[in-house]
Amino acid sequence: MKLVVKFGGTSLATVKDIKNVVKTVDKISKNNKIVVVCSAIDTVTDELIQISSLIGKGNKKDANRVLAKISQKHKQFATHLITNSKILKSLSNKLYSDLSELDELVHGLILLGEVTPRSYDYLISFGERLSIDLVSFTLQEMKNKSVPLSGKEAGIVTDSNFGDSRPLMDTTRIRLSKTINDYFAKKTIPVIAGFAGADQHENTTTFGRGGSDYTATIIASCIDADEIWLMSDVEGMMTADPKLIKNAKLIKEVSYSEAIEMARFGAKQIHPRTFEPLLSKKIPMRIRSSFNVNNPGTLVTSLHSKSKNSVKCVSAIRKVGLLDLTGGILFAGPGAAAKIFSVLTKNNINAMMVSSNPSESSITIVVKKEDLHKAENALEINLLGTTLKKIDTIPNVAIIAVIGSGMRGKVGIASRVFLAAQKSNSNVMMIAQGSSELNLAFVVKDNDCKSVVESLHNEFKLNTIN
Ligand code: ASP
Ligand code: MG
Repeated sequence: MKLVVKFGGTSLATVKDIKNVVKTVDKISKNNKIVVVCSAIDTVTDELIQISSLIGKGNKKDANRVLAKISQKHKQFATHLITNSKILKSLSNKLYSDLSELDELVHGLILLGEVTPRSYDYLISFGERLSIDLVSFTLQEMKNKSVPLSGKEAGIVTDSNFGDSRPLMDTTRIRLSKTINDYFAKKTIPVIAGFAGADQHENTTTFGRGGSDYTATIIASCIDADEIWLMSDVEGMMTADPKLIKNAKLIKEVSYSEAIEMARFGAKQIHPRTFEPLLSKKIPMRIRSSFNVNNPGTLVTSLHSKSKNSVKCVSAIRKVGLLDLTGGILFAGPGAAAKIFSVLTKNNINAMMVSSNPSESSITIVVKKEDLHKAENALEINLLGTTLKKIDTIPNVAIIAVIGSGMRGKVGIASRVFLAAQKSNSNVMMIAQGSSELNLAFVVKDNDCKSVVESLHNEFKLNTIN
């Protein structure tokens, strides 16, 4: 099989974890052509972001301190991972070259005292550039031929939308497939840095947080892989958050569209565009744990699953707040919603869920809890007294999402959902369901969250799924 296997940062957090990952790759590579994609070692991307904000504040000393910490960590990992002196020498040289480049960049930015979107992407791409060195050379230590490649070196070409770039698929396909096929011909395992590519002017660009998943699917599509595996510290997609529900179960199979809903609703955090490159080629994906390789995890395919369960998963998004906007007759007529959303957009506030009723007298919007006051203030300054009559906020609420493609066109699901909410004695404050019927979401007080999820998990017998 031609396989793309991606490892998340939590699977690369310690020397032991990296050895474990490399052992897995070594084993799989015996019978498959494999491309490895890596995230940054756990916390390193956050530290690079911290360096950027310290530079912005003019705090040179702490920026240098965090930089030294990153550099030390990778050097230390190298000496613990490799015993063969020749390989250690080559790894040290490669790390030295990458770390010197990072060092020069940080000092340049300190001198300038600012980080532009372009230099920010360049800076935060280093987490992956360093982790691939460790993984690739440890593979060599286990007698494999392997090469570490940045996204740019591998041939990932993107637009110039720094921080949220998209691949230029045609160019990327030509370059990437050539690079990888050449390495396959030489029986060499390419270990590719996730998260970043380069635009046509060779500036480094990133795909946004969590973007290594996206790198992996872009590669899978370009080389026509047979499967792609996303390996991290979770076993796969679960019927509910196991921290909330003790008998939550692993879901064996979901469709792309279900997985997209689940990813968005946080059952397992996956970059939102991850599935895009797979859809047309229908490449199957497995979501699995790097710590328990005997578990095949969740299979995501283009097929509608044959599962008897109409509902597959109940997830909860906590730490959100609700804005209830009343407009009286001012609302009726075109443009009110546009005004509200443009105020939110200008203030960089994401509306996570929206509901309004046909009387057009109010709109309810859910935002992240930390955005709630900002949203309230911005709407007050801009629209209160004109478009809006009253703004109410409720801080501690949770979105409950019931997900499953089997709900589509089926009579009686909503009544079971709300009966389950009633059984847990919870008040439903807001409801939204798109007409795709893949996802029925509602809002309750955060205190009620656990009992509602439990009640729904029981009602739909999710502990007997698969
Ligand atoms: N290291 C990047 C991040 O934390 C990309 C990734 O892990 O997927 O967001
Ligand atoms: Mg990550």
